[in-house]
Amino acid sequence: MKTTLALVLSLAIACGCLHTWSVAQADEKNLEAQANAKKKPKKKKKVGPPKPLYDGEKIRALIITGGCCHNYIFQTYALASGVQKLANVEFQVVNVGGTGTAAEIDLYDNPQWNAEYDVVIHNECFAKTTNPEYIKKITSGHLTTPAVVVHCAMHSYRDAEIDDWRQFLGVTSRKHDHQSRYPVTVTEPEHYLMKTFPKDWVTPMDELYIIDKLWPSATTLATSVSEKDQSVHPVIWANDFQGTRVVGTTFGHTDDTFRDQTFIDLMAKAIVWASGKEEQAKY
Ligand SMILES: [Zn+2]
Repeated sequence: MKTTLALVLSLAIACGCLHTWSVAQADEKNLEAQANAKKKPKKKKKVGPPKPLYDGEKIRALIITGGCCHNYIFQTYALASGVQKLANVEFQVVNVGGTGTAAEIDLYDNPQWNAEYDVVIHNECFAKTTNPEYIKKITSGHLTTPAVVVHCAMHSYRDAEIDDWRQFLGVTSRKHDHQSRYPVTVTEPEHYLMKTFPKDWVTPMDELYIIDKLWPSATTLATSVSEKDQSVHPVIWANDFQGTRVVGTTFGHTDDTFRDQTFIDLMAKAIVWASGKEEQAKY
């Protein structure tokens, strides 16, 4: 099953097209085939194992990924498959723009690009894209659609003169420290996203992003300390982007981070919370 799903996702990424990926749907097809073979009437019922975090109405999520410096095919697979074990989320994936540091992807040419989704996960890396009209197409979609922003999303559009993307993220960052295993300190233990977060998590090898500015609309949820100068930087935060929820983490450089269950748990809860579904979640 895992191999098949991985293949399906890889194909979707390779062709750069939108592709719906759902474990539940795959299981449903098998069960329907079995039911038809026995000539039983079709029965529409929920299949697949119960989701321990969130089993409510399906959350429609779009992952936008691609660009420089990271293994986005693996990261997307690990994120989507890990989250789907925990929460009822249907993912579509857009992985376009190549592996360079600048791209303008066709997705945003549609002014309704965000309309079909409850939440968008940004895990892309296009630091040298600076076109203000292009950037505004993205941020205007997020006036109504929540987001989860991961790692190099924070360095995307870094060279742009306008602040729209940074205001959307909730942070301004332009560089990072070396890779290390960074201890993470929870600063808002009562926030939904942190209530079940371990108090002693140390990241897999990852980069510490230097946060130059936390925007007034953002709340730091967890921090890490620079090994170079002992400065303290937000590593997980929540942002209120003009009324829309945004969750960010600057971790996510290595594949090992995406293999880490604490990171996947954070992603699952971030998707649930950003979508406004936390009251229907089991924790
Ligand atoms: Zn990185």
